Amino acid sequence: MARTGYRDRYRADHDSAGLQSIPNINSISRLEGDGEFVFTYGHPQLGSSYVLEVRVVPQEYSSYPSEHFFLVFACNQDIPATISKTLEDFMTLSSGLRVQEALRVLSQNITTSIVDEGRTGSVIDEDNDTVMTDMEDEGFGSNEDDEEFEDFDFGDEDASHDDAIFGLGNENKHSTSMAGVKTDPEVLRRIRRDFRAVRKAGFKVGRICGFDEQNENHIVSISVRVDKLCLSDETREAWNLRPEEFIVLLIKYSGDYANFDEVIDRAAGASNLDFCLRKSTKYKPTVRQATSAFVSGKDKDSENPANAASQIVDDDEDLNLLAIGKSIDTFMRSDFVSMLKLRWTKGLTWDSAKRELVRLERSMDSAPQNNIDVPVLQNANGADEKSNEAKLPAFLAKEYLLQHTEISLPVVAAQFAMRFFVRCTDYCMVCHQKVEGNFEALKPYVCGDSLCLFQYMAMGFGPSIDLEVINHPNVVDLLISFCYAGLQKVLFHSQGNPAAPAPTNAFREFPTGLNLQVPRIVPQGYPVAAERFEKAEQIANAMLLDPISVQFDWSCSTVKLTYANDADRLRAGMWVVVVAKPLGKGPSPSLDVLHHGRIEAICGRKVDLHIASSHTLPPSGRTMDDLPATGDGTSQCHMVLYDQNLDDLTSHGKAFAMALLLSATPPVASMRTHITENRNRQLDRWSQLVPSAAKLLRWIVASNRSFIVQVDDLSTDNDTGLARPNERISGVDGWLQFRFAQGSPEKEVRFQEELKTVQKPQKTILAWHGSDVCNWHSIIRQGLDFKVVANGRAYGDGVYFGRDFATSLGYSGLRGMGNPNGANILPLTIWPNSSLKITSALSLNEIVNKPHEFKTNVQFCYVVQHVHWIQCRYLFVKPDPSIASTLMGSMSKGTSNIMSSEFEQDPQHIATGPSGTKLCVPRVAIPSAQDHTVEKPLSSLKRHAMGHSGDSDDEDADDISFLLSDDETPEGDTRKRLRLDTSTVSDIIELSIVQTDKTDFRPGTLDLTSLPQLAPPSYATSQAQKTIGQEIKKLQKIQASTPLHELGWYIDFENMTNMFHWIAELHSFDGSLPLAQDMQKAAVTSIVLEIRFGRDFPMSPPFVRVIRPRFLPFMHGGGGHVTAGGAMCMELLTTSGWTPVNSLESVLLQVRMAMCSLEPHPARLESTNQAHRADYTIGEAFDAYTRAATGHGWVVPKDLQEAVTAMMARVPNETK
Ligand SMILES: [Zn+2]
Repeated sequence: MARTGYRDRYRADHDSAGLQSIPNINSISRLEGDGEFVFTYGHPQLGSSYVLEVRVVPQEYSSYPSEHFFLVFACNQDIPATISKTLEDFMTLSSGLRVQEALRVLSQNITTSIVDEGRTGSVIDEDNDTVMTDMEDEGFGSNEDDEEFEDFDFGDEDASHDDAIFGLGNENKHSTSMAGVKTDPEVLRRIRRDFRAVRKAGFKVGRICGFDEQNENHIVSISVRVDKLCLSDETREAWNLRPEEFIVLLIKYSGDYANFDEVIDRAAGASNLDFCLRKSTKYKPTVRQATSAFVSGKDKDSENPANAASQIVDDDEDLNLLAIGKSIDTFMRSDFVSMLKLRWTKGLTWDSAKRELVRLERSMDSAPQNNIDVPVLQNANGADEKSNEAKLPAFLAKEYLLQHTEISLPVVAAQFAMRFFVRCTDYCMVCHQKVEGNFEALKPYVCGDSLCLFQYMAMGFGPSIDLEVINHPNVVDLLISFCYAGLQKVLFHSQGNPAAPAPTNAFREFPTGLNLQVPRIVPQGYPVAAERFEKAEQIANAMLLDPISVQFDWSCSTVKLTYANDADRLRAGMWVVVVAKPLGKGPSPSLDVLHHGRIEAICGRKVDLHIASSHTLPPSGRTMDDLPATGDGTSQCHMVLYDQNLDDLTSHGKAFAMALLLSATPPVASMRTHITENRNRQLDRWSQLVPSAAKLLRWIVASNRSFIVQVDDLSTDNDTGLARPNERISGVDGWLQFRFAQGSPEKEVRFQEELKTVQKPQKTILAWHGSDVCNWHSIIRQGLDFKVVANGRAYGDGVYFGRDFATSLGYSGLRGMGNPNGANILPLTIWPNSSLKITSALSLNEIVNKPHEFKTNVQFCYVVQHVHWIQCRYLFVKPDPSIASTLMGSMSKGTSNIMSSEFEQDPQHIATGPSGTKLCVPRVAIPSAQDHTVEKPLSSLKRHAMGHSGDSDDEDADDISFLLSDDETPEGDTRKRLRLDTSTVSDIIELSIVQTDKTDFRPGTLDLTSLPQLAPPSYATSQAQKTIGQEIKKLQKIQASTPLHELGWYIDFENMTNMFHWIAELHSFDGSLPLAQDMQKAAVTSIVLEIRFGRDFPMSPPFVRVIRPRFLPFMHGGGGHVTAGGAMCMELLTTSGWTPVNSLESVLLQVRMAMCSLEPHPARLESTNQAHRADYTIGEAFDAYTRAATGHGWVVPKDLQEAVTAMMARVPNETK
């Protein structure tokens, strides 16, 4: 317990130091990681504009405040020697000092050193200003004149320039106006670091426009290829994504480039950022695409919600919208910065930051509240969010925000957008709060708040109805049919008690809050409050409220008002329903015909109508052409207005009105013809579709949260592209098949996790789930029927499944539904305009193969109590026999199957087709049947998903040079090439980790007696020992927890006798490297390195050299940054390139990467012949190192000679 308090103590000390005034210290940045922070120091003798930035890294942090000490070093590259010396000396002085004391002592010592130096004017080299001026002539990203950049180490990720966030002034803040980008190298460097961090985090970066003086706006694209997001095939398909497409976040800066700290400091509303999330075939959109995305995101789209047909044609014109894209755009524009601030200042998770934001917004008017409940929020939800993070791909789950000192806002924004995208089904698309409830849907939707539903529809979120009608007409038919059947069940249940609530298994949610206007017609016996109407008229099975008496003339679509003053109630553009009796004494005297129309013009008592749609009441299944004639201009009819709000009705009234609207909805095939005939046509402007019906249709399609797509090729479609014949299950003749998936990506992951615990070869069993056609509207929104059986009559609580088709079929038909209207009309539950005319529906499901753990497992039925053990795979629907023959004709054509490979069911649990027939299920249709030894399970893929780290080959060369301009010179200067930028290095490292999945390296096989054995040097100080000791501890931990082939290095810590002298091995190189191939030929499994630490470590770099095998020298075409004498030739390992925060892990990785480098030549072994192997000696290594360093102009460490020679005296087998 005592040890856990050090962090708090340290943090408190740090915070209070920030609040105190310490002479010459201007700002103290926030804490990072294990207590690191940066402070800025200014002194008149340094020049008024000069800011010394000092990074403070506590060591032995966990013993604070007793045995710890501080490493301090300057972030500036150009510090006077006297300050440098002061900082170095401070390490020993700082032991045991508390933060404030340490800062005081340090500040004083620096001041003393400057004053003692006695130089007035400027201690800093005036050249510095010259350099800055020269920068003005540099194009952004140009690197013609790299000598001038030499003084700016753009590659140094560790150089932090954070401004103070509390307490002290920040007058040293750099100007960030874009006009200053070119003149202010600081901003330029910051931009580059920020973007490099984006690449390092696993994204691709594209500079679209701006970041120079010419443009007011600056747009950058941050993208990730869909396959890197580790989504299941079902999810990808449901979200309409292809693996090779890119999800692109566009960030627009208007005016300034605002870095993280500036965004945090500014008021949220003053942020100059804008965001757009889109889908693209390229990682980097064109300037036109990007700029128009920002325009369409705001104005264009609201004008023209879904120009569906043109979208299909103009794929290359605009970036594709994502179903969730608009929602995320809005979210990021309105909340991202505010949430980030809350998160940052209060240490909240994203979810609790959102909750806190909502709470703050709600309490805006009331008195300011204290934050007592915030930690509670965090505690309550932190764990929950953590478990969700585990389901994200690693590069999104990594808490970038908490792991870096200098934060790149673009990285945070990209992680935010992508992680929200991947987990979009967990959140309301409108209010973006977590959606509660246990059905984890596959498609994003809204929460239960009706305001959210309204916004969802009003803002055009969700799928485009036009696209759905074009691409999946039968699915749209199915959705309408299910809805219609569900409505009929509500109506049926309400008979006798019209006020009764809707049966919960049929209809749980009505389209509430959409201001859906319906005709003034209510079902028979409907209780209407007297004040709601003046008069009512009874017709066949309904009641007309306040009808207008008219004479209807069908031939010219006009009505003549019986009473002239009724004209006052009418206006052009209004929608009405004319209710007419069939002319003459027809066969159905109880039938009325309803004509839905819009008022075109009113002239006296004459009203011109546009009739959009007509149908009978009760519904008869007759098409419009087939309707009995009505309205010869003389007969009296009624007309009612479309001015009743659906929300005002009881569920009985709602069901009736919605069914009426659906009756007036034309067949899907007609809609499809309408849209496809002309690409500028949209459904909601179609004159044949009543606006309220169009709205309802959108709700039906958009509120479906399952993924349904047709398998069969129906004769009603001419497009063969709709079918998926290779996924067709044979053995279920007479039924239409759809692929059917439910449940969020997370549910799929949990399902897969569960499968891992199954020992049998078949991880799952197949079983049928049948339910009344009327229940499927609800099932596709809320999940399979979970029966709660209170009295134990059946088989317990859970989802019921049948092994045999017939068992489930018993549950699937139109049971309990009377047909009061005789046999000559179709059953009431069938949507009259359906081309499928469904009478039954069944799903085929995969269930985790653990029947003994099911709630019930009897001969014919399983009851499964865990919803995540179930995944729906297929939906089978039976068309009405009256049209089945037409459909079946074409279906049998599809039966000549391209069945590649069949899924073999567990012999003990075989699901059968109708009348016990054998089912032939294609293997491709059953994900769990895929070979898991070949294909890694999704969850483990996710754990390792690094995004694009490493594969930068196809990135825009301009962007690369923009990001790395000072680090990678196209040709010539090897000195440049050797300076490895840390972010580039780790990109490549991550690549090598991913690619190296096997190793021939065996630890412990190295014969240590053949290597130098050295005793500790005389200069072994306790501080150096402490630092090296910590490094050893860290590396031991890493080595113990990382698979060897991923690690790529190995140190035999057990046999390490002298901590100042290490032997390390590099191994498991990518087999495509010439070096790896040479090693294999030579039967060498590792490169043996020696690392020696000098007196001044960690202020001075360790000496690193290869002992064996010998590399082909550079002069003979070799490479890998290995000198002729075996020493590594890297600026990192010289005084010029070294910083004390370099960990030995990063040294090992960078040495490894230097060896893997293919430039200017790839590393080769000198000989693959056994006989030619002589170890490099320390002497030749030292000579080669000093030669190379001097040649490059790098500073050789002062303590190098000593490090090399101090231990040499005791070397028995070292040959100098
Ligand atoms: Zn909501």
